[in-house]
Amino acid sequence: MASSAGVAPVVAYVAIGSNLSNPQEQVRLGIKAVAALAGCQMVKFSGLYGSPPMGRKEQPDYVNAVMAVETTFSPMQLLRELQAIEIRHGRVKVVRWGARTLDLDLLLYGDERIEVPELTVPHVGIAERAFVLYPLSEIAPHVTIPGKGKVSVLLQQCPRSGLDRIA
Ligand code: ADP
Ligand code: MG
Repeated sequence: MASSAGVAPVVAYVAIGSNLSNPQEQVRLGIKAVAALAGCQMVKFSGLYGSPPMGRKEQPDYVNAVMAVETTFSPMQLLRELQAIEIRHGRVKVVRWGARTLDLDLLLYGDERIEVPELTVPHVGIAERAFVLYPLSEIAPHVTIPGKGKVSVLLQQCPRSGLDRIA
């Protein structure tokens, strides 16, 4: 169990995505980097999925995965740590929804709902995006997304949209 005096660990879900510089390898390295954080203990991770880009079409396909960690970080601390990993892995912010070497999004933090300028949890689009919902359902079908419903039920209403399990 991740330890930090007196803080009960919470299960958080993180989405990992990449579409540059060998995306499969980037996703694997991203998972390792999150698991190595002092305040995080790996619980599970999904397989890797390939998906066509959302938003801006003139960019390479994505590789996506989802992982579960037990964390003693607060939601904001976890967001900061994820952002630091993105930068360490060469992410250069150019355009929103544009190509990136590594994108780490906080999908769920226990059953909390958070709405502050820098952080929305559950993550926007979690219940509709195939590249999030399919890998999430692989590791957490019984989890309920606050305000949305059970992952396995949401999955039934979510077309695959070209998503492919690749590894
Ligand atoms: P996206 O992941 O939507 O493609 P970016 O990674 O560029 O786009 O967006 C990052 C911004 O989203 C950050 O400035 C961050 O503060 C904000 N954000 C809001 N909620 C979340 C969340 N749950 N996880 C990660 N970033 C979030
Ligand atoms: Mg992001």
